[in-house]
Amino acid sequence: MRRILVAGNWKLNGSKASIQKLVTGIVAGAENLTDVSIAVCAPYVYLPFTAELLTKSVVGLGAQDVSEQDSGAYTGEVSASMLLETGCKYVIVGHSERRALFGEKDMDTARKFAAARKQGLIPILCLGESLAEREAGMTEVVVARQLDAVLELEGVQALNDAVIAYEPVWAIGTGKTATPEQAQAVHAFIRQRLAALDAGVAAKVQILYGGSVKGSNAAELFAMQDIDGGLIGGASLDAQEFLTICQAGQ
Ligand code: PGA
Repeated sequence: MRRILVAGNWKLNGSKASIQKLVTGIVAGAENLTDVSIAVCAPYVYLPFTAELLTKSVVGLGAQDVSEQDSGAYTGEVSASMLLETGCKYVIVGHSERRALFGEKDMDTARKFAAARKQGLIPILCLGESLAEREAGMTEVVVARQLDAVLELEGVQALNDAVIAYEPVWAIGTGKTATPEQAQAVHAFIRQRLAALDAGVAAKVQILYGGSVKGSNAAELFAMQDIDGGLIGGASLDAQEFLTICQAGQ
């Protein structure tokens, strides 16, 4: 009953030429994929250009980050209202690269989540443990801590207008995908934690898997009961590969 969502995260990649080629390919292929939701998350400066290319397409636009602030003296920041005006529907918050490389804390992510929702953007909340945390048996503790920061600030009902992405850090960009069973176990844990607060919200929220998803492994991941799509990094930079993943969600 939950629709599959496949969202591309281009990260710090692309130029006008490469984006034109990529998006043109995705838009053409996406026409036949009516049973899956598709989105692409572009670098800030290319959002207007990408929005233009997506005109009349069913493919949604997303950003990769957002300021927790609405406006003011915050040099270099981009607000949720700016993203909305630029045509965004989604925004990724709390990606592990923001957390690990740019010092983003659980509460920073929660405030970004709140800022996005306040403007009507759909936050894609990323959760996930590092390899050391997994090996120490801390996966559930870490994921619960990251999720709880958002629940404490926004309440469980906020997940009615949000998407969760479980992305084990050890699987991102490494070619080392979590097995469908490993991913399913954490997805089920996240859903159960939400169900303890509100069964309706838990049943409805899309929980995407991210981390080395490609055309060849998407179908087995999406077949798992609590996996409702994917957040795709490297494989989203090639139209054909990305469309193969979207096809797996049909
Ligand atoms: P990957 O990245 O697909 O390249 O592993 C996923 C992500 O970081 O969202």
